[in-house]
Amino acid sequence: MSGPGGVGKGTVVDRLLDLDDRLWLSRSWTTRARRPGEPADAYVFVDRDTFMRRVEDHGFLEWTEFPGNGRLYGTPLPDPPAGRDVLLEIELDGAGQVKQRFPDAVLVLIVAPSPEEQEARMRSRGDDEKSIRRRVAVGAEEERRGRAIADHVVVNDQVDRAAAEVAGILSKHRAQPPASPST
Ligand code: 5GP
Repeated sequence: MSGPGGVGKGTVVDRLLDLDDRLWLSRSWTTRARRPGEPADAYVFVDRDTFMRRVEDHGFLEWTEFPGNGRLYGTPLPDPPAGRDVLLEIELDGAGQVKQRFPDAVLVLIVAPSPEEQEARMRSRGDDEKSIRRRVAVGAEEERRGRAIADHVVVNDQVDRAAAEVAGILSKHRAQPPASPST
């Protein structure tokens, strides 16, 4: 799952995990600082040297420097329990990397109903004005790039509805395994 900052991806993910118990959420690593009030296990919070050592050890499925804040984010090589499907909540560059490595991965792009709504969400969770302005500016471009590579686009107009739509998309994909390359 991907989408521009402030579209409410995290809330949709939380709701989706309640709806679909086959999903297993990957916990990312990041070099950014923990936000006030953010759970300690939201990420594995590490310094840049520790992150780069894991890069050198080929320990990430994907990683990137996020243009919104210049910090590093990465998905450790997933080790889900048997029978579970891995859910990643990551920005677009990383999502593109995952699609390249796993062409049958399903990329759902979450978008905000409007840019005003997106800005208001970032403000309400306490992001600073400078980073809000920067992220809104890159948001439109990110949405455009996202629409070009996404398998599905879901508007987060209402979180329960959006999560239910994503759950429906996943059920359809499970019912129809991807065609083999020769077909
Ligand atoms: P935040 O700092 O607001 O938690 O996240 C910033 C951005 O990084 C969000 O778009 C989030 O989806 C993305 N992100 C979180 N974890 C990862 C990751 O492991 N890899 C990539 N590529 N992006 C991530």
